[in-house]
Amino acid sequence: MSMMVRCNQLVATLSDHIEGRLGWFASLQIRFHLWMCPVCKVYFKQFERIYRECGQVDLAELPGDFEKVMSQILAKWKSGPATEVRPGGDPTAS
Ligand SMILES: [Zn+2]
Repeated sequence: MSMMVRCNQLVATLSDHIEGRLGWFASLQIRFHLWMCPVCKVYFKQFERIYRECGQVDLAELPGDFEKVMSQILAKWKSGPATEVRPGGDPTAS
């Protein structure tokens, strides 16, 4: 079992992660991916906010929205200003 989780695998287990239903290793994989992947980090923050506001999010109802959000984030990320996104880093720090 690898430490590397793909983005779609992360999304599939996001609600379990927030509810604490994952085992320690799966949670570690999620945290590691979120640390490595700025796109999923942004998505996770949005997802978590929605989750806390609504109480529950059914991922089965979100695939279209997910792709829309992700493509917007990706487009912004690729074409955006040259702000370097580093895991855990402050982009404004020199
Ligand atoms: Zn990712």
